[in-house]
Amino acid sequence: AIVTNVELPGGPKRKTRPKATAVVVAIRIRPLAEWIERYARSMPSLDGQPQVALIAPPGSRDARARDGGHKLYAFDHVFDPGNQEEIYDTLGRQCLDHALQGFNASVFAYGMTGSGKTHTMMGTPDDPGVIMRVCEGLFGPEFDGWSVEVSFLEIYNEQVIDLLSPTQLAPVQRGEAVRIKQSGGREASPALGRTFVASTRKASSVHTMKGLTVREHPQFGVYVEGLVRVAVTSAADIDQLLAQGTKMRAVASTNMNSTSSRSHAVVQLFVAEGSSGDKVAQLNLIDLAGSENAKRADTSGTRLKEGQNINKSLFVLGQCIAILAGADGVSDFAQRHGTGANGELLDAASARVTAAARYVPYRDSTLTWILKECLGGNSKTCMLCTLSADEANHEQSLSTLKYADHAKRIKTKPVVNEDTTKKVIRALQTEIKDLANELKQT
Ligand code: ADP
Ligand code: MG
Repeated sequence: AIVTNVELPGGPKRKTRPKATAVVVAIRIRPLAEWIERYARSMPSLDGQPQVALIAPPGSRDARARDGGHKLYAFDHVFDPGNQEEIYDTLGRQCLDHALQGFNASVFAYGMTGSGKTHTMMGTPDDPGVIMRVCEGLFGPEFDGWSVEVSFLEIYNEQVIDLLSPTQLAPVQRGEAVRIKQSGGREASPALGRTFVASTRKASSVHTMKGLTVREHPQFGVYVEGLVRVAVTSAADIDQLLAQGTKMRAVASTNMNSTSSRSHAVVQLFVAEGSSGDKVAQLNLIDLAGSENAKRADTSGTRLKEGQNINKSLFVLGQCIAILAGADGVSDFAQRHGTGANGELLDAASARVTAAARYVPYRDSTLTWILKECLGGNSKTCMLCTLSADEANHEQSLSTLKYADHAKRIKTKPVVNEDTTKKVIRALQTEIKDLANELKQT
């Protein structure tokens, strides 16, 4: 018999309207030697939103700087410099709470090279950062019976490098055969990420490193084809994998003649409640390339040199964030000013602007494509911006704060994930059992 209209256990899929949730923006100010006067510092505020003050450096072109004042920016959290535990308690812990409820969650670390992104995300064995603390939490009592899988990738020069794939980074000589891991099956889904067919190709150069392909599935969304996912049973497992991946990252940057400051590192944790439940969540923990690499090509005379420094992913990330922030501003504006004397006209005009502004170029870069959901979609997202307290970095600090200020205005639309595959399988299994029983009875 052909079974149609499988009745899902728990009734038909509920249609829950996603609630727009603002991106949480936090600033961490990297400490300086005691004797250096601090240029960036946290300031308390009256309305409960902590602020960052940039003490204008002498000779700054900033108008307010000439008056000897300082620029103030308010954020959800300001750590000056805070400690690893505090940052985990405020931001990492939230990711775990979201996952427990079946929401995806993401933390981006953004800031110039040397401002403390890696320190904050990875940390050191003695003083682990957000990532390892989140991993420890995943094996705590609350997650009893949950399964955890890890992916660790790097985006360098728009290529996706799998840091957990042992074969991808083997140094190869020109003309030598390289094994490339590919996802098996045509109907590729994230779940198929573990099925591989090795294919053999000729390397075209000494530094050949074939990036993985990013694809978009109508149901499963964006995924990296063939990306290794390792099932882990302890935080120590993850620690080992991340250490291994970080070593590979170093090898990769030597091979590619780059530094890690130009690449993005993305740790993905896929968690699922055990056999009885159906909660699933994806956590994305991202150590971005140094923000100084996002420079525009045309900002100074040294065009070529800077051109080489542009990190397309970082540049498009900035664009997406500006557009997402702006688009919301426009719709708010339309809401507030949509009626009245020229209401109709204004409506039409702002609708047009909104439609135009809403086009977000996620697919223009590898990073924004892979992390599309974290920016405007199904994820509770936190932007952690790191800041140098040194006035020598005025320009970068100002640009980081402007970026963070934009990020505050972004809203994502997280929904509780439903592991539909599991549900359908369970329904079919029940169906089979019922049919078998029927057969027995006849
Ligand atoms: P980034 O990844 O942004 O380039 P790092 O995290 O590597 O920067 O930090 C640069 C240096 O500053 C490292 O030696 C790091 O240990 C130190 N550092 C960064 N943030 C802090 C902090 N909050 N407290 C103490 N040391 C820090
Ligand atoms: Mg770093």
